[in-house]
Amino acid sequence: MSMLSRRELIRRLVAGAALGIGGGWTALAEAAPRRLIPWHNWSGAQACIPFARLAPKSEDELAEAVRNAVGTIRPVGASHSFSALVPTDGTLISMPYFTGLLAHDTGKMQSEFGGGTPMSTMGEALKAVGLALPNMSDIDYQTLGGAISTSTHGTGVTFGSYSTQVIGLRLVTARGEIVDCDAEHHPEIFRAARVGLGALGLITRVRLQNRKAFRLREKMWVAKTDDLLDDVATLTRENQHWEMQIITNSDYAAAVALNETEDPPTPPIDPAEEGGNDYVTAIQKLDQYGRDWPAARTAILNLVARTASFDERVGDSFDIFANVRNVRFNEMEYSVPAENGPACVREILRKIRDKRLPTWFPIEYRYVHADDIPLSMFEGGPRCSISVHQHYTMDYHNYFAAVEPIFWKYGGRPHWGKLHTLGARQLEPLYPRWKEFADVRAELDPQGKFLNGHLRTVFGA
Ligand SMILES: Cc1cc2nc3c(=O)[nH]c(=O)nc-3n(C[C@H](O)[C@H](O)[C@H](O)COP(=O)(O)OP(=O)(O)OC[C@H]3O[C@@H](n4cnc5c(N)ncnc54)[C@H](O)[C@@H]3O)c2cc1C
Repeated sequence: MSMLSRRELIRRLVAGAALGIGGGWTALAEAAPRRLIPWHNWSGAQACIPFARLAPKSEDELAEAVRNAVGTIRPVGASHSFSALVPTDGTLISMPYFTGLLAHDTGKMQSEFGGGTPMSTMGEALKAVGLALPNMSDIDYQTLGGAISTSTHGTGVTFGSYSTQVIGLRLVTARGEIVDCDAEHHPEIFRAARVGLGALGLITRVRLQNRKAFRLREKMWVAKTDDLLDDVATLTRENQHWEMQIITNSDYAAAVALNETEDPPTPPIDPAEEGGNDYVTAIQKLDQYGRDWPAARTAILNLVARTASFDERVGDSFDIFANVRNVRFNEMEYSVPAENGPACVREILRKIRDKRLPTWFPIEYRYVHADDIPLSMFEGGPRCSISVHQHYTMDYHNYFAAVEPIFWKYGGRPHWGKLHTLGARQLEPLYPRWKEFADVRAELDPQGKFLNGHLRTVFGA
């Protein structure tokens, strides 16, 4: 038996600690000097210090890492979830080596991407082969695997979430097995994994149904929130993608309509002017000065809103869908049955006004088409998604606690990636196909390797 030098022993221990793989890991890891790298999400409200942070380079390496990982394993994408899906003091696995367009079929309008692909890179890659995502969320900073895992969505009564665009995927499961699933192969795993909360395994590849590349025209205008809500049926029928951002403490909202066009693109706007920075900062300032005089604040906000005007934009779909969001916030979003949207948001606005809840961030109001995915917020019927935000420097607990029961009253389901306080007892009755997901999860991960504290609450495990 060859003897290791002391220096070589230490080198191997450190390498083992960094990778978190290899036999006898626990004993080695305990002895090894380790560098702990803290993690936090985009808003800064979720944080953890994982024992190991891994970025495997191949499926075999990933499978080995999963088999030998220390503590609870959590996959992480771009850390853009507000809820505590990701934190673990065990092993955090990211997927920067599973990226890019892997295959495509322009005839069938299908493509395959790595599960860790930043969505901001997908638009150009698809355009180069004549394809596009049919609908997108309002940012593209997420990874593909992260976005589908929480049922991330955009807006449009005839458009489902990203998960509905998925026609197949590959998972590395808790046992370190590699499973390809679609409607024909392991259909029960496929149905569950299209919105899997990172609880079924790590997604290494995703096959998508695309459409041909297209351009969009964006129109924005300001109108009274009440009038927009009265006209919601027409606005959502006559525009492919319609939403509004309600300016809290005012009577107005900014409406946004996106429709397909063959018109030539308008000149690109200066990135410094994107992101609603000026608009949001102006509202924040007004709030600071006007908080003690709510009637005056409303009057000024109404005046500013009435005078706002916006240039129309035309561009590639992925450029128009995605916005820059560089003012940080925390967020709660529920999706209520579509017909309940107007009453629900009106009650939220009344609550903010009557209780003088301290907030100034706009409320986002969107519509999403129904699907049949067990844990999708949109399972079984069309929904209206309503998001309340709080600037990251302001406490969100009281505001969100006041609003959350209104969402419950209107039959809301919480966005998995956003803040909520529900556990299995409240969630299960909201999802008729809950057991379908629970059975697949128990089969794939009987020991709960992927369950952190938050997911144990969510699944009652
Ligand atoms: C500024 C901002 C704007 C947003 N806009 C929208 C919006 O318009 N619409 C909307 O619906 N949501 C929106 N969100 C929420 C966001 O889209 C979701 O929370 C999304 O899941 C984040 O993706 P991510 O790549 O950051 O994943 P993370 O937040 O890192 O992880 C999300 C979940 O996916 C799992 N996961 C990540 N990668 C993998 C993988 N490869 N395999 C298996 N599981 C994986 C994680 O374990 C976790 O459970 C927004 C968030 C922010 C911060």
